[in-house]
Amino acid sequence: MYIIKQNLVASENYSIKCPHSMTAEFIVVHNTANDATAQNEVAYMIRNKNQVSFHYAVDDQEVVQGLPINRNAWACGDGANGKGNRKGIQVEICYSKSGGTRFDNAEKNAAHFIATLLRERGWGIEKVKKHQDFRNKYCPHRTLDKGWNGFLQMIKSYLDDIPVTSSSGFKVGEKVRVKESATQYATGQALAWFVKGSIYEVTKVAGDKLLLSDIISWVWIDDVEKVSANTVVATDYTFLVEIICDELNLRQKADFNSKVMGVVKKGEVFTIVDQQNGLYQLKSGAGWISAGTKYVQKI
Ligand SMILES: [Zn+2]
Repeated sequence: MYIIKQNLVASENYSIKCPHSMTAEFIVVHNTANDATAQNEVAYMIRNKNQVSFHYAVDDQEVVQGLPINRNAWACGDGANGKGNRKGIQVEICYSKSGGTRFDNAEKNAAHFIATLLRERGWGIEKVKKHQDFRNKYCPHRTLDKGWNGFLQMIKSYLDDIPVTSSSGFKVGEKVRVKESATQYATGQALAWFVKGSIYEVTKVAGDKLLLSDIISWVWIDDVEKVSANTVVATDYTFLVEIICDELNLRQKADFNSKVMGVVKKGEVFTIVDQQNGLYQLKSGAGWISAGTKYVQKI
């Protein structure tokens, strides 16, 4: 593990080190090709007057930031207007000259730190580039020697362990109930009747939208409420209802005039698989009951 520190370049040196504002589009990985600590690497970078710069240096103990990430860095060698230099968050992995355990640990820290940068931005592994992608330079040299795909796999496994949390605090794996007041999916279509009041698991979070299990549809966070982790999730478009009147007729068809097959009683709970003409069909196949809210309640 590592701690994160800042030792940011003085703003009067922006004109040398990071003259352009930047909206980052990816992350670029480098090896320092020396044996300096992250702290020394950054201290040297911010004090010299060369057009050489990067955003972060990572060693076996810490991540040190030298430039703000809303400004460019000169690390890719692809020129003043190069995509690498102008759109990349540049990450240097320390101790690559001699390698060994401290390099391996620096690389692990870098992989984890890069995973956190990806998660914060909602980016996938395809946003991780290597210096070599922008210029014919064998960098990150030791990481390439060890195997680039192995490094990407390391990032990916860390990424899988970092929970996705939207700004409003919803997480993948959490259970939510779609509010009865909801009218539309986030994609604009009208919500299916059976979705309202039903509970689903969040499978993806993107800004203020959630992708729900079973229905595989996006909804707005304003249209759901969190429910306890112990709540039973009905699946396959089904949901549960509890009988709240003393007795309710069980009918043969989705028709209030069809034959009464029996009665269900207060407190009994049924799984519902369909709704037609104001009646709910029981999963057991026993028949249909009224969907009236005076008689049954979704649970
Ligand atoms: Zn490089």
